[in-house]
Amino acid sequence: MGGELTDKFRAQSERFGTKIFSETVDKIDLSRRPFKVWTSKKAVEADTVIISTGAVAKRLDFPGSGEVGGFWNRGISACAVCDGAAPMFRKAPLAVIGGGDSAMEEALFLTKYGSKVYIIHRRDEFRASKIMQKRALEHPKIEVLWNTTTVEAYGNEKGMLGGLKIQDVKTKEVRDLPVSGLFFAIGHEPASKFLNNQVETDQDGYIVTKPGTTETSIPGVFAAGDVQDKKWRQAITAAGTGCMAALQAEHFLQLHGSSFPSENGDAVADTAETPAANVATANAPTSNGGLTEQESAQAAIQEPFAVL
Ligand SMILES: Cc1cc2nc3c(=O)[nH]c(=O)nc-3n(C[C@H](O)[C@H](O)[C@H](O)COP(=O)(O)OP(=O)(O)OC[C@H]3O[C@@H](n4cnc5c(N)ncnc54)[C@H](O)[C@@H]3O)c2cc1C
Repeated sequence: MGGELTDKFRAQSERFGTKIFSETVDKIDLSRRPFKVWTSKKAVEADTVIISTGAVAKRLDFPGSGEVGGFWNRGISACAVCDGAAPMFRKAPLAVIGGGDSAMEEALFLTKYGSKVYIIHRRDEFRASKIMQKRALEHPKIEVLWNTTTVEAYGNEKGMLGGLKIQDVKTKEVRDLPVSGLFFAIGHEPASKFLNNQVETDQDGYIVTKPGTTETSIPGVFAAGDVQDKKWRQAITAAGTGCMAALQAEHFLQLHGSSFPSENGDAVADTAETPAANVATANAPTSNGGLTEQESAQAAIQEPFAVL
């Protein structure tokens, strides 16, 4: 159903004139307008840019944790709020790996569904805030397994997650922990490295936006979705900030006009009626080659705004 809905979103935006290129952006120059964006195949100039490249949930790699031959999406997830209510996790023992606020939040959330929730943590103290720790530690359904790492995930007779092999980091003793669900809560990595520090980010790489807006540190560059949202990271919040960014980009164009020269050489005063361009949203393979050639080539397309 989700895929069908996004296909409809895509078709609708194309009906309104959006051009979609499913390519990975390797490089971007935000030093002046028009901004320049490079993929392995083309260079694009744009009067405004919306960055919505998301954030990837970090996962641990141990036998049984992956997609092929493992239990990823068959009991292992990186989002308790998204997947925790699924029937397979109800009234079953569950585990969360992590020690920060997200791990506490995910574990507390899972107590609504699971019979018991283990927090597996490799150290003997959490880095979560005191208040979140207290809530988790005092919850009757939560048990913390300190100084413990996960070394393997194994299946049950239905081919779903059946349990974990966990190891005490001090004694090296390995034991069995039967659980039907495992949730990684070890942080996210925002996809902002390609910006090469041109836009202000926080210490974890999330783009900093002015509160209540999608404005970044560069006028004309907006950020939406998980790449600027450390806290909520949900589809609906990403869509909401995406809408804000589109409206702000349009408003910016109305106020500042276009920096592209018109046919008589002047800057274009009002581009609000010009159709928008979308650039690079899918998982196209990244290529590091060919950039110099592209840089020297004249940008092929000039558009009022680009959405990454
Ligand atoms: C397992 C899982 C289940 C979830 N379930 C739910 C749920 O039930 N409900 C809910 O509300 N939310 C859910 N979420 C969260 C939701 O998916 C995200 O909050 C939402 O997709 C964020 O949207 P976004 O557009 O910011 O980023 P994304 O959806 O991550 O999109 C970013 C896009 O940018 C692309 N990209 C990255 N870098 C570049 C680049 N350099 N050049 C070009 N393209 C690039 C990526 O390939 C990707 O296509 C779930 C997340 C996970 C991981």
